[in-house]
Amino acid sequence: MHKLFAQQLAKATDSSGKVDLDLLGRLVTAVYDGADRDSRDREDSVSAMVQQLDELTRGLEHQVEVRTAALRESEAVLKSQNRRFEAAIDNMPQALLMFDSDRRLAICNARYLRMYNLSPDIVKPGCPLRTLLEHRKATGTFADDIDGYIEGMIKTLESGRAMTRLVDLPDGRTIAVRNQPTAVGGWVATHDDITERRQAEAQIAHMARHDALTDLPNRTLFRERLAESLDGLERGARLAVLYLDLDGFKSVNDTLGHPMGDDLLKLVADRLRQVVSEADTVARVGGDEFAVIQTGIHEPPDTTALARHLGEAVRAPYDLAGHAIVIDTSIGIAVAPDDGVEPDALLKAADMALYGAKALRRGAYRFFEPEMDMRMKARRALEIALRQAVANGEFALHYQPLVNVDDRRIVACEALLRWDHPERGTIAPAEFIPVAEEIGLIAPLGEWVLRKACIDAARWPDDIKVAVNLSPTQMARHNLVPVVIGALAAAGISGDRLEIEITESVLMHNTAKTLATLHQLRALGARISMDDFGTGYSSLSYLRKFPFDKIKIDHSFISGLPDDNEALAIVRAVAGLAASLNIMATAEGVETTQQLELIRRLGCVEMQGYLFSAPRPQAQLMHLFEPHLQKLARAG
Ligand code: C2E
Ligand code: MG
Ligand code: MG
Repeated sequence: MHKLFAQQLAKATDSSGKVDLDLLGRLVTAVYDGADRDSRDREDSVSAMVQQLDELTRGLEHQVEVRTAALRESEAVLKSQNRRFEAAIDNMPQALLMFDSDRRLAICNARYLRMYNLSPDIVKPGCPLRTLLEHRKATGTFADDIDGYIEGMIKTLESGRAMTRLVDLPDGRTIAVRNQPTAVGGWVATHDDITERRQAEAQIAHMARHDALTDLPNRTLFRERLAESLDGLERGARLAVLYLDLDGFKSVNDTLGHPMGDDLLKLVADRLRQVVSEADTVARVGGDEFAVIQTGIHEPPDTTALARHLGEAVRAPYDLAGHAIVIDTSIGIAVAPDDGVEPDALLKAADMALYGAKALRRGAYRFFEPEMDMRMKARRALEIALRQAVANGEFALHYQPLVNVDDRRIVACEALLRWDHPERGTIAPAEFIPVAEEIGLIAPLGEWVLRKACIDAARWPDDIKVAVNLSPTQMARHNLVPVVIGALAAAGISGDRLEIEITESVLMHNTAKTLATLHQLRALGARISMDDFGTGYSSLSYLRKFPFDKIKIDHSFISGLPDDNEALAIVRAVAGLAASLNIMATAEGVETTQQLELIRRLGCVEMQGYLFSAPRPQAQLMHLFEPHLQKLARAG
């Protein structure tokens, strides 16, 4: 009986454990009916049935428990997935919105609300697009026409394309908005705040066109602006390019150090900015070079006035951490269209004019002249030839005696450099030494002069010295003293055979180092002469800085004698000054016996000039030494 019951019970229970209650009811009734018929089995059957029902109930309870747990678990998984999804979209760097096909908001992250400072009561799932835009318009972050915007956007999205645009907000932010259609008829919108990215890009673009130190436009931007200005130059209008090169900046950098030099450049930049008008450009185009574009010129004096103001601004003293600094600027000026209409031609012309200004004096300004171009070309040719000449050894030394007119003896011979050019013949040093200085050839050339002069002097009588001119660049070179020692040693002559001639300009730069070098040369036995005295600043302070052995009075004063009273007064004053400082005075460029007599009466006994001998090659010098008294008889 109970077996049958168990079978029926299994039937009423499907594979998933669900129980058909109807079938179960019918089954229980049938079992009771059957039990009446068979009362012997009744008790057994009933207890077995109860037991089986009990098992069934327990099984059902267990299944309910298992299912409830599974349900809870999947609910928790779903919830945590939701939370993660929300956290992810809320923490996206962009604002994210999703609209359904009814143009209602389905999803919106917190960043969107924050980005536009919107109310979560309005902007929430279900909010129509129009309501959202009205809210944004009311709160000031949407400026377009709402209907027009919606129409345009729907049209684009319906065509299956994304809609992208950049929006500048009134508070200065820039937002990149992108609406991308979805497969189900809605769209996803992202709003990206690109303000910082744009600022960084702008910063990089700025840096590429500006000088990092002064924040002035750099050469690139200057050239661009010049090209623009030239393009826009109207008929009859003029434009000027002023090229500035600071005078004396290098010595500030050398003596006070680069950080101080940088500070000075910043101050100069500030001053130039103040002088130049808003419409014009001032740029830093090199280390200590600046350039200005002046537009709107009516008369040439406008440019002259600007050049003068720029000069005055730079020239005013600076206070750099307690150091009073004075520098100056040379200015080259080129004017369009006269001197050129292309940026490069104009810049080149201004550069040539600057070169011309530098040749005039410190702090000069100069307009471009067509001859400068010719001269520049000639100079370039000279540079090339000079390099060649150093390589080919096209140089020679001529010697000119310095004579003591009292005892009629040659006391020294000055070595004067000559360039025997294969085509041009002999070229004077005044023409090529400044170029050699500028292009860095003076060092090898000067070293050659020293060595050759010492070797030649080794063949002269011991009491005749050799005088060698040293340029400022040579003096500034750290290896000068070893070079001199080497030249003396190679020739086998002692240091006291040597006279070094320097000009005042040598003492104007880096004085401490120069003085140390001069003392070292003096310690070798060499004598130091101040050459061309009277042509520079003739500052007495230079005479006090170093105990010179000799002052050479420049021939420009001597040539004025005896008629030029001013020249006479100067020669008298310098001769007197030398006598009282116990320094030998030498008159250069003595050409007549009249001059000789006059100079001797002023107390100056050492002379040099064509009257005694022009500079001559070593071969023609030797016979002068024999009985020099007789040879020089003409002089007495
Ligand atoms: P400086 O040292 O003053 O040389 C004297 C100049 O006066 C020489 O010109 C000489 O020829 C010239 N002179 C001599 N007697 C008379 C005269 O009676 N009347 C006139 N009018 N002039 C006379 P030079 O040889 O043309 O040299 C010019 C300058 O070039 C020199 O002036 C010197 O500063 C420089 N120089 C010459 N050789 C060298 C050199 O080896 N190294 C350097 N650094 N400079 C040199
Ligand atoms: Mg000299
Ligand atoms: Mg001289």
